[in-house]
Amino acid sequence: MSESITNSKGGAESPSFINVASLARKNVRAILFDMDGVLFDSMKNHAEAWVRAMEKNNLVMTHEDVYMNEGRTGEGTIDIFAQEQWGRSATKEECEYIYKVKSDIFNTLPHVEPIVGALELLQAVKHRGIERVIVTGSGQKSLLERLEKNFPGIFKAELMVTAFDVKHGKPHPEPYLMGLEKAGISAEEAVVVENAPLGVQAAKAAGIFTIAVNTGPLPDKVLYDAGADIVFPNHCALLEALPVLLV
Ligand code: MG
Repeated sequence: MSESITNSKGGAESPSFINVASLARKNVRAILFDMDGVLFDSMKNHAEAWVRAMEKNNLVMTHEDVYMNEGRTGEGTIDIFAQEQWGRSATKEECEYIYKVKSDIFNTLPHVEPIVGALELLQAVKHRGIERVIVTGSGQKSLLERLEKNFPGIFKAELMVTAFDVKHGKPHPEPYLMGLEKAGISAEEAVVVENAPLGVQAAKAAGIFTIAVNTGPLPDKVLYDAGADIVFPNHCALLEALPVLLV
């Protein structure tokens, strides 16, 4: 499995104009954005921090495992690996401890930059009068607190769903259903932008049209298999397609 992480993504081309036009969405009132890998180029650091924190606690997690599990809450991730490798669930205290080790390592890693094109995409969405909602499994305060600094005037505190709000992380639909509820809209009036297979699954389980931007090392196929309606190779390609996709 770890092979694909070093492989080129192959086939990571922009969808054709015809494909995009056939998927056009009308009357979209809000776009629900995932955070890591969609707004911040943070997944490399998350992967490194998870691998090291798990290793310190006698759990093996590869970098690819991190990308495949992206979107789960910290507790959910730790519990899956504990069950597999310890033969039992992790206790609440173990989850809290390992997640703290992971967060502390994350905070020592190189500064995380916004994803190239994310600000322009968000500004274009705002300019079209479409609301912006954050739906993340993250509880990484250092990034949540940076949203306003890096994306000024884009997000509202009351339109955010984070690890602190939900019982079930992605791939459960709860985070996206809560995002719809906070925005006061139905699934048909929303679009999700995700980068992770479990995030795509969560959004589709909530009944929402889901755009994937493949900013990581996994093949596009993983995102289509998770249920993505369309996959773009990067934010610039999505921004270019926006006027055709949202009519
Ligand atoms: Mg993500």
